[in-house]
Amino acid sequence: MPADDTLKERYESVRARIDEAAARSGRSGSDIILVAVTKYASIDQIRQLIGLGHVDLGESRAQILVQHAAQVEELLERGRELPSTRSKSQPKQVRWHMVGHLQRNKVRKIVDLVRLLHSVDSLRLAEEIQQVAAARRDEPVEVLIQVNVAGERQKHGVAPAATRHLIEQIDTMFNVRVRGLMCMAPEGEDPEAARAKARPVFTRCHELFDDIQTKGVTSDRFNILSMGMSGDYDVAVECGANVVRVGTAIFGVREDVR
Ligand SMILES: *Cc1c(COP(=O)(O)O)cnc(C)c1O
Repeated sequence: MPADDTLKERYESVRARIDEAAARSGRSGSDIILVAVTKYASIDQIRQLIGLGHVDLGESRAQILVQHAAQVEELLERGRELPSTRSKSQPKQVRWHMVGHLQRNKVRKIVDLVRLLHSVDSLRLAEEIQQVAAARRDEPVEVLIQVNVAGERQKHGVAPAATRHLIEQIDTMFNVRVRGLMCMAPEGEDPEAARAKARPVFTRCHELFDDIQTKGVTSDRFNILSMGMSGDYDVAVECGANVVRVGTAIFGVREDVR
């Protein structure tokens, strides 16, 4: 089987599972944004995925995001100049999502490349974003607050009880706009155990999200809930996610880069 068929099949099967999970939660698959996380992807695979019409790409390391974004931009540029080289479904633009932990000294590098930053987890990071953005852009930087729902020591993220206060503080910054929450499920001993552990965490995060939304602590554009990865994105959709971040289920596992 040619490699691009495999990627296409995996992509379509992820989409189909999202559609089914969305239907189970009374929504449609088109309500859910699938962010394809390029962590283990080759640039060739990213090209193939864009050729299939995919728009939302994510990366967890700032340096690689910069590289991938430049490579993708080159491809899109060529498609715009020579439309005959472009597949019919290829979008004119993609949207990059920074999904991993971000160090303050990397903000400057990526802030103009990303459409949504999923991992704001401290006031200091938000302040750095504000400072960089104020100096060089008109539009605010759109961010999610990463919540450490399960209170895991080794994970980044804000404690659920501190989330609202952090959002209120960030809302005073002109150049940072909080669009919602992001969380990660704890690891499990095996895939089934992990899915079982994920459900209460996602449910708790959805409750927190609803709570903040209904109490109107922030703007009416607080409407993004990013949760779910390859092992549990369908569980996350059932629990109310409207953005999922999927890497290996689309791109496969590359032993050489793990
Ligand atoms: C790597 C990563 C993902 C995707 O993980 P997979 O299990 O490969 O789907 C999603 N979110 C974050 C924050 C990641 O670092």
